[in-house]
Amino acid sequence: MSWQPVDCHAHTTMSDGALSVEGVIERARSHGVRPSVADHISRDIAKGIKSLDEVRRYLDTLEQYDVLRGGEFCWHDNLWRELPEDLVRRFSHRIGSLHAITLADGTRVHAFSRRVPADLTVDAYMDAHLATFEQFAREMPVDILAHPTLVTMPFRTRDVGELWTEAREEQMVAALADAGIAFEISARYPPHERLVRRAVERGVRISLGSDGHTAQQMADLSRPLALARALCVPDAELYDPTRHGSKTQALLHHART
Ligand SMILES: [Zn+2]
Ligand SMILES: [Zn+2]
Repeated sequence: MSWQPVDCHAHTTMSDGALSVEGVIERARSHGVRPSVADHISRDIAKGIKSLDEVRRYLDTLEQYDVLRGGEFCWHDNLWRELPEDLVRRFSHRIGSLHAITLADGTRVHAFSRRVPADLTVDAYMDAHLATFEQFAREMPVDILAHPTLVTMPFRTRDVGELWTEAREEQMVAALADAGIAFEISARYPPHERLVRRAVERGVRISLGSDGHTAQQMADLSRPLALARALCVPDAELYDPTRHGSKTQALLHHART
């Protein structure tokens, strides 16, 4: 079979998506994409998977289908730290998300909150974002950083150059390279080209994700794939858990031997 991109990031009704697992597989087939399911596994997502028993049932369900078994874990929620090895091993790949960051004074700012502290400047927020990100990259055993350019809602309309200085971009790609975490080109929160180029030039692996929640979004990787190709990333180098393995599996293997 000819090469097909993998949609490493997609949601079903097991968290906050609109489609069943069959629905995800069907949409992926129609787009010529290999499907995976990566539902929210977090106590801080309203419709997320919130307990070890639920994680077990989620994996049991996915194992009944020809689909890659991912999961999207919030860095700021501790559920990922509590997963026993027998559950970790059943994931084909794991995604980490900065759905909240911590300011220098300890205040938590959520990506989806409509308000930030009145005196918070963009620079202070972004510096805290990068500091949180660096801690994430050091500590969280994931394969992919989801939507790397997602920032809190009140700052999303800011100019990209104000948010992402070259120094911050450097900081991000260096930490991803050191940690061996892939950079996701998200169809839902498209990153700006300069940052992706910097990641590619630094040798960071690129992952494609629709972050699909609806039938319309599901498995549509046309824009992420076009950007990866425009930056001369060979198709076969795009992150594919079956081909490139999972950091988690490598860590577990390392721990056993
Ligand atoms: Zn997310
Ligand atoms: Zn997601």
